[in-house]
Amino acid sequence: MTAIKLGIIGAGSAAFSLRLVTDLCKTKGLSGSLVSLMDIDKDRLNAVHMLAKKFAEEFGADLRFETTTNIEDAIKDSSFVVNTALVGGHSYFEQVRKISEKYGYYRGIDSQEFNMVSDYYTISNFNQLKFMHDVAKAIERISPKAWLLQAANPVFELTNLITRTVPINMVGICHGHHGVDHIIEKLGLDAEKVEWQVAGVNHGIWLTKFMYEGKDAYPLIDELLEKEVKNFKPTNPFDDQLSPVAKDMYEFYGKMPIGDTVRNGSWKYHYNLETKKKWFGEPWGGVDSELGWKWYQDRQAEIALAMQKVAKYFQENKNAKLLSKDSLNEIISQTKNDVKEEFTKEIYSLLDPQKKSGEQHILLANALLNDEKVDLVLNLPNNGTIPGIPDDVAVEIPVYADKDGIHRYKIDPPFPERIKKMYLYPRIMRMEWALEAFLTGDKKVLEEFLIRDPRTKSYDQVVKVIDEILALPGNEEMRKHYSKK
Ligand code: NAD
Repeated sequence: MTAIKLGIIGAGSAAFSLRLVTDLCKTKGLSGSLVSLMDIDKDRLNAVHMLAKKFAEEFGADLRFETTTNIEDAIKDSSFVVNTALVGGHSYFEQVRKISEKYGYYRGIDSQEFNMVSDYYTISNFNQLKFMHDVAKAIERISPKAWLLQAANPVFELTNLITRTVPINMVGICHGHHGVDHIIEKLGLDAEKVEWQVAGVNHGIWLTKFMYEGKDAYPLIDELLEKEVKNFKPTNPFDDQLSPVAKDMYEFYGKMPIGDTVRNGSWKYHYNLETKKKWFGEPWGGVDSELGWKWYQDRQAEIALAMQKVAKYFQENKNAKLLSKDSLNEIISQTKNDVKEEFTKEIYSLLDPQKKSGEQHILLANALLNDEKVDLVLNLPNNGTIPGIPDDVAVEIPVYADKDGIHRYKIDPPFPERIKKMYLYPRIMRMEWALEAFLTGDKKVLEEFLIRDPRTKSYDQVVKVIDEILALPGNEEMRKHYSKK
């Protein structure tokens, strides 16, 4: 058994923190650990702290918690630091999007070919990149042996930035590969008998292997897709794994796009709302349309509110039990019905002692410290795993972890050339542009990014949109950075 200190930066992201905490509660080998919850928002922090304690109590887990608004406190003596902070919050993204749309950039200048996810900004996200880089440097200074587990986006750009410039143990972690579980479930297969691999880059991963009972099971996906896309009607804006766009991408690239990859196709699927509706289904046109993203934002706000109400209730009723469904329903009775249902489902799933959350952070920590071998999908430098991709480019690949570290599985069958040439290379190039801009402070690189954007009609448009974003309150440091040259 190994007790650790786990620092969570941006811990006010309640649903995420509680997933990590309950995974810890269910991991005997990490019993006795200390969780340091760090956030700049004290209300959110206190709510998460209260709930984390309640969950640990419910499990009878031997865990301790501390809260802090100081990053260095969370890092000091930590073996693992999870970073899930979002600097400037979602409202910054909306401000940038609004300015961009005024200048003709539908869904914002950061929505780019192969990167359409609405909170995955790379061009205008200086504050987020800078913050993550600074946290990595603080780890190097204060706890040089600690692992940084990067959860906040843009995971692809950040994993590259940090692994190339800060000599610490670091991986990028995403849960997008669970799209494979959805396919397995839809096919009604016994998950134990499925052998699969995904590979690519973060939010650009592909099902390179799919076998059932030792035989190629891709024909089952073909049949399923035929059935699913007829009269396709998504149940929510995220419901796209078996959508017309997934089928179309599969037909072009030759393998199934998995998880957020489906959101990250070319402009073919994203020109405007009408196009998005055609490919992602009515009524939302996918989660990254103006309608889908509003749906998601409204829902997140409701969930955050419900979380705060539950925390307040337990603050006032110290002996109440989380397990009582009636009390939970009563506390969040004002919450919209479908959100209430999802919220309660999440809480009871977290309370299920047999089920882990699906996040990989605690599994990785336990494997490294207690030698409990586990298969994961992580972001780390390629180092030859996908031939033709530079060694220092972070790829998202199947690995296993144990006491000796993280080991890459061979990608077999080999990664398809079409996907490399038509998808990975252009996406990697844009990551390189984002890092070139960030590391040099050369505003001309930001401009060049947009000059090459199909929505750009004049140089004037480029200069104006960038200047107006740089002039936003909160972007003082970014403005200074990009006036160096
Ligand atoms: P959120 O705004 O709800 O939560 C982020 C938290 O960060 C807030 O509590 C905020 O107070 C805190 N924060 C902001 N600035 C901070 C600072 N300087 N220091 C410490 N804390 C700070 O955002 P969210 O929707 O939970 O998303 C958080 C991040 O996680 C985003 O980048 C999102 O894209 C990413 N994400 C990743 C995955 C994954 O699988 N890797 C999945 C979902 C979301």
